[in-house]
Amino acid sequence: IKDLCFGYKNAKNLTIHHFNLDIEQGEIISILGESGSGKSTVLRLLCGLETPSKGTIKIGSQTMTDERTFVLPEKRGIGMVFQDYALFPHMTVYENVQFGLKNWKRKERKNRVHEVLELVNMSSYAKRYPHELSGGQQQRIALARSLAPEPSLLLLDEPFSNLDADLQIKIRSELKEIIKQTGTTSIFVTHDREDSRAIADRIITMRDGAAHDWDSLCTTTRLEEEQRQPELVRLK
Ligand code: ATP
Ligand code: MG
Repeated sequence: IKDLCFGYKNAKNLTIHHFNLDIEQGEIISILGESGSGKSTVLRLLCGLETPSKGTIKIGSQTMTDERTFVLPEKRGIGMVFQDYALFPHMTVYENVQFGLKNWKRKERKNRVHEVLELVNMSSYAKRYPHELSGGQQQRIALARSLAPEPSLLLLDEPFSNLDADLQIKIRSELKEIIKQTGTTSIFVTHDREDSRAIADRIITMRDGAAHDWDSLCTTTRLEEEQRQPELVRLK
């Protein structure tokens, strides 16, 4: 993600302000930031639900967005788990998970659904409806559904916000294990430091619509001070 800028139509200021982030293949990144800092907006830009006013998004060598390109959300190969799981209530677990596999051959589709249900330890629940599952189980199905089409990038937007504290701790260690097993590059958004620490290979903090390395927060502050006093820097 290079120099990404974006402002909502009815907002005065840019919500995303020169946002830069490089992610290695297979890495799990956490974006940690206060409510309203723009975390969900970054994810919406990544999956193509919003169009940036400036900047470039690439996955591997493929450009998703730049001044000439805009790849449609369904063509990006990105999986997303939302805060409220967003399972289809009128579909069984099986139907929910196979939803993104419409273009797959019938047999492969069936095998893949069983494979990911096994991955999240929910094989015996294929025929149930979402309302017949606990919150944690629904969360695991949402994860299975987003992993089923083998996304090149997995986005998770505060996936634990509806779970109680004990379940949150249990699921977050499971989540890391499951993602690592599949080797899927992932971005996990949260305002909870413990969640970030438990899951991420690397934590990025979000302030003023831009990304900062967790480890270099002090340096960033120092840089900002220098930028406010350009004469001083030039004198050095
Ligand atoms: P939270 O932790 O509460 O989910 P967030 O970091 O995900 O917060 P965003 O949802 O990205 O924050 O919102 C960033 C800013 O953009 C906020 O000030 C919010 O009010 C504003 N915003 C979000 N969606 C819209 C919209 N559709 N139109 C206008 N402004 C919006
Ligand atoms: Mg959000």
